Amino acid sequence: MTTRDIPGCFIGGADSAGTGARHMVVNPATGEPVAEVALATATEVETAVASARAAQPEWAKATPAERAGVLFKLAALVEERADELVADEVAQTGKPKRLAAEFDIPGSADNIAFFAGAARLLEGKASGEYSGGHTSSIRREPVGVVGAITPWNYPLQMAVWKTAPALAAGCAVVIKPSELTPLTTLRLAALAVEAGLPRGVLNVVVGAGAEAGDALSGHQGVDAVTFTGSTAVGRTVMARAAARGARVQLELGGKAPFVVFEDADLEAAIHGAVAGALINSGQDCTAAARAIVAESVYEDFIAGVAELMEKVVQGDPLDEGVDIGPQISFAHRDRVAGIVARAKAAGARVAAGGCAPDLPGAFYRPTLLADVAEDSEAYRAEIFGPVLVARAHTGEDDAIRQANDTEYGLAASVWTRDVYRAQRASREIRAGCVWINDHIPIVSEMPHGGFGASGFGKDLSAYSLEEYLAVKHVMSEITGEPKKEWHRTIFRLR
Ligand code: NAD
Repeated sequence: MTTRDIPGCFIGGADSAGTGARHMVVNPATGEPVAEVALATATEVETAVASARAAQPEWAKATPAERAGVLFKLAALVEERADELVADEVAQTGKPKRLAAEFDIPGSADNIAFFAGAARLLEGKASGEYSGGHTSSIRREPVGVVGAITPWNYPLQMAVWKTAPALAAGCAVVIKPSELTPLTTLRLAALAVEAGLPRGVLNVVVGAGAEAGDALSGHQGVDAVTFTGSTAVGRTVMARAAARGARVQLELGGKAPFVVFEDADLEAAIHGAVAGALINSGQDCTAAARAIVAESVYEDFIAGVAELMEKVVQGDPLDEGVDIGPQISFAHRDRVAGIVARAKAAGARVAAGGCAPDLPGAFYRPTLLADVAEDSEAYRAEIFGPVLVARAHTGEDDAIRQANDTEYGLAASVWTRDVYRAQRASREIRAGCVWINDHIPIVSEMPHGGFGASGFGKDLSAYSLEEYLAVKHVMSEITGEPKKEWHRTIFRLR
């Protein structure tokens, strides 16, 4: 693969260079450089926010149908240019081509098309005479300029989850993708202009978090900040936005429980656990992370998951036979390996994996850690790698207690054939999404977002439009009388 130069910024509808350090985008499946970029700094963030501020009022005045038209065209362009987007997504993340081509890119096109439709359906309360002498109506107005900060795990999808609803609502956006994976966000912005989005409405700054991200979340000209990433950074971003009273939405880490009851279809649970834990090489905030399994089926579950994990093929992401890719970087792979080594030293049973394969990239073998201690790092911390930890439970109360014994609350799944138990568990588990007899599927129409340390606010669905809209009450006096009834509180009239 040849290294290419890419711009650090897309501002006002055109590529431009950043004035910061030069940075290499690396393919973690090979360790080879893919692209070189001059990073954006606070200076470019300033220009990008100014560009968004200048463009936003006109975009807000476009009719919902006009905004929908641009977004539908963008969805079509994403489908048309799928091959280029897949190639870039695979090169910068190392994820298998199969995953990018069948999930990331079509999912992104579908999200954009959903928000194109949603742009024309901004619901509000009916107008009415609530005081008797006035007609009240509700306006749904764009919050203004949105600062979006996204992670490296699903670069295009995360960019779309933020920008599509914001653009549908009439906002302008400055987005800062992870500097590890900027390629598809830059492509998305260029495609948006090709689709007819006015220049300046969508701007990209590729910069380091501590510099460009910090400048964006603290910028006075940014009305709302939407962030997806780790809990620690999310809290920093929130503090920066809070200092100037800006709105914030946070999609943070997770440690999803995968609860199996004794009456579950064990074959389905085993397949679900392996797929749910290994999706995107385990670098998924909703990935199955903690298997909490009924004592009576625990050993069968461990044996089944271990057997299936051992069959998972790693290697060249362009090879159709490869199942999962590497970790995003060698540093991240080493962090995952460190957690597994400490769990092993503390007495966890390594039922599968627990090592790096003999491959050149940042790969780590699918790993199952059985009998992990409840207070251990492996059980509590977000590993964000292909590692499933497991514990037994003694019954429904114990299973729910263990599922909720976490600071996170993003997603969970419950595996049972008992419809009553499934409903009770979905009520009791504290998480933004509970799947019953499956783990992972998402759809554009339904919300995604966490409780607790997993953040607040929603991506996807009509709920996410709320993050980018402000409610305005307009109240018109309708009697035409010069003296109003309520004036008696001041003038002692009547
Ligand atoms: P991260 O928090 O390190 O980085 C996320 C983004 O924040 C990047 O663009 C980064 O450059 C930027 N950033 C870093 N420091 C910053 C600062 N001081 N100010 C402003 N921005 C800063 O996360 P990551 O390693 O890129 O992604 C992995 C994390 O993302 C995991 O914790 C995962 O659970 C989470 N995630 C959550 C969801 C969700 O929907 N809840 C989805 C995907 C990923």
